[in-house]
Amino acid sequence: MHGYGGIEQLFYEDANEPKITEPDHVIVKLKAAAINHIDIWNRMGATGIPIRLPHILGGDGAGTIVEAGASVVNVKVGDAVCLYPPTGCGQCEFCLTDRDFMCIRLRVLGERLEGTYAEFVEVPAENCFPIPAGYSFEEAAAFPLVFITLWRMVVTNAKLEPGETILIIGVGGGVASATLQVAKKIGARVIVTSGSDEKLARAKALGADHGINHYKENFVDAVHNLTAGRGVDVVLDCVGGEVWRKSLASLAIGGRLVTCGATAGGEPNDDIAAIFSKHLKIYGSTLGSREEFRQLINFLNISGINPIIDRVFPLKDAATAQKYVEDGKQFGKVVLRISA
Ligand SMILES: [Zn+2]
Repeated sequence: MHGYGGIEQLFYEDANEPKITEPDHVIVKLKAAAINHIDIWNRMGATGIPIRLPHILGGDGAGTIVEAGASVVNVKVGDAVCLYPPTGCGQCEFCLTDRDFMCIRLRVLGERLEGTYAEFVEVPAENCFPIPAGYSFEEAAAFPLVFITLWRMVVTNAKLEPGETILIIGVGGGVASATLQVAKKIGARVIVTSGSDEKLARAKALGADHGINHYKENFVDAVHNLTAGRGVDVVLDCVGGEVWRKSLASLAIGGRLVTCGATAGGEPNDDIAAIFSKHLKIYGSTLGSREEFRQLINFLNISGINPIIDRVFPLKDAATAQKYVEDGKQFGKVVLRISA
């Protein structure tokens, strides 16, 4: 990436190979990377995070370790690994309590660190984790960001329980479709919304109990019909904007709303009376801890969930792949295959 703007700012070209700069770092030869919306916002300069140019985007990746610093003990050259994207300063109050994803000097692959749309990347060894059993490199690159994000939202924060009902807004997105998979394995009833009947059909094939086309019906009314007027226990809303108030209105008394994004706008017309009179809880989060990432990988191994991959593009077509994600055509993840 040579400047902020559209996909014309992305170039497939030779860059310097990364060198190990710290004794506890490794070099990973990447086999796959995944596209996330954050990559697009970083490209557009919409995050407020300054990026040193030229820059390599990409927060998700998987590959093989080809070089390890002198003090590395948790992995070795030849290991196949997937990458935990954030890294902290190691010294602030959050880093000192295993919350370096909340670090005041947070760095994430593809933002303040060179990312994964590349043949090689340098990362701290502690960001390397074993690939879930049976996963391809494409699958190993597709899951980390979306699954760690939903895991903290839905499992740690909302504490979704078997037998509860969750409403997932906009099921085509990466976090939303992954939440559908995890919520079904937990044993929850899952209601999804989308503006596309095709995406609703795909969600039902993955186990969604009910699909609501929000262009054809008011999803608040539909949710109340499906829950005998009670509402749902948990709403996952990463859309915000006009949808936010409807998400609150879909909750049962004591319900929990989780959010990790506001693609439709960050200034909702909030219903504060509904929040206190219905005893609602709202949890904001982004990413999750290393411990949650370990727990998540165990869950993926036990549950047999594989991430949903919509399409795989070669690395040289990263700009086309980003455009495809910007257009919102995908269901699940769009992945870059990296072959040297
Ligand atoms: Zn820190």
